[in-house]
Amino acid sequence: LSSEAEAVLDRIEEEDVDFLRLQFTDILGTVKNVSVPADQTEKAFREGIYFDGSSINGFVRIQESDMRLEPDPNTFALLPWRNNGDVTSARLICDVIDTTTGEPFSGDPRRVLKNAIDRAHEMGYKVNAGPEPEFFLFEEDEEGRATTTTHDKGGYFDMAPKDLAQDVRGDIIYGLDEMGFEVEASHHEVAEGQHEIDFKYEDALTTADNIATFRVAVRALAAEHDLHATFMPKPIPRINGSGMHTHLSLFTEDGDNVFHDDDDEFNLSETAKQFLAGILEHAPALAAVTNPTVNSYKRLVPGYEAPVYVAWSDVNRSALIRKPAARVPAASRIEARFPDPSCNPYLAVAALIQAGLDGIENDLDCPEPVRENIYEFDEQKREEYGIETLPSNLGEAVEALESDEVVMDALGSHVAEKFVEAKTQEFEDYLVDVSQWELDRYLETF
Ligand code: ADP
Ligand code: MG
Ligand code: MG
Ligand code: MG
Ligand code: MG
Repeated sequence: LSSEAEAVLDRIEEEDVDFLRLQFTDILGTVKNVSVPADQTEKAFREGIYFDGSSINGFVRIQESDMRLEPDPNTFALLPWRNNGDVTSARLICDVIDTTTGEPFSGDPRRVLKNAIDRAHEMGYKVNAGPEPEFFLFEEDEEGRATTTTHDKGGYFDMAPKDLAQDVRGDIIYGLDEMGFEVEASHHEVAEGQHEIDFKYEDALTTADNIATFRVAVRALAAEHDLHATFMPKPIPRINGSGMHTHLSLFTEDGDNVFHDDDDEFNLSETAKQFLAGILEHAPALAAVTNPTVNSYKRLVPGYEAPVYVAWSDVNRSALIRKPAARVPAASRIEARFPDPSCNPYLAVAALIQAGLDGIENDLDCPEPVRENIYEFDEQKREEYGIETLPSNLGEAVEALESDEVVMDALGSHVAEKFVEAKTQEFEDYLVDVSQWELDRYLETF
């Protein structure tokens, strides 16, 4: 066994862990897990754990269904919300292996991200990513089902007593801390019942693991207060939706920030600008991955601090990409403002990285930043500035994805095919549905 795996076995002893959950995610980003008694951990490290891949959304057909989970010993964490009474649970995140070839399974989202990281590595870069996930806390009804009744009436950065959720948020942060998260900031967001918790940037793989864990942890910890936490991008119309701004930078293997340039007006290096240009270039296709639900496009409308226009800015929060002020070179980064927390974090981060690397490889020209409020531009002015818009619905985004080779390749053929199939179906289901809005508007009028 590796020394990391040995260390996990020691922790399991020390913490008296009873059950180990072996986790992975499906193509849509849902966390799946197999639970084994803790005394099986060594066996899991040595031989892996076999499961039937045909029962996982978007994985494989019945004929080729044997899959093996290989636990990553660097991902050990206790599950704080499961430690009720005498039962202690921990988890390990796993890679998925195709047993017919013995190779990593190309339909595993974590593998898709590793491919992007490997490409960056070959180009001499280490990728850092830091997310700002937002979510709503809603009351549950008598049957314990989620409602859209907000839990409090707070506003941006409000303090108690209006911010009733402060205790809940405190418990969530405490739980995350126990799991090894370094929470940098947390605050009440603009909308009632809306919150943001930012954790420190890490290498891209750790961050994607963290986001997947974060969503599970926040929901579980909120449930202990009889609240439902949702990462649905726009649960309530006409107020701010929930985004997941994603900060990205490239470091050298020695830890120097390749994105920083002291002499540049924006402290951005040429490499950073090319990376930024790559994301702008592929933004419509990226949206299908970073904003993958029908509901995502209800957030991406003008007027609620969510980006709609394909542009970047150093000052302006209506742009797709912002260059945050950085006090030290290590903090020079770009902030993609369009992703939302309904995305599969592995696929979203992978696609952003690949689009950025494509910009570097092809020496893409970075446009000038836009310093005015783009929400206020009319079509003519947007045309004059050459500013495109993001897809306005999931159907358009999937079409953009299918015609973008770079982003399709970023997903790899297996995931790309399954993803497009699932999302096309999702959009068609939506199109044939009759919504409450239609009933309210037409039922008695006609
Ligand atoms: P905002 O101003 O948009 O609210 P925050 O300060 O809340 O931004 O979020 C900053 C995020 O960026 C955090 O996750 C932080 O760890 C991350 N970050 C800081 N430096 C870097 C970097 N060099 N590369 C990637 N992410 C970074
Ligand atoms: Mg923040
Ligand atoms: Mg912020
Ligand atoms: Mg925010
Ligand atoms: Mg932000």
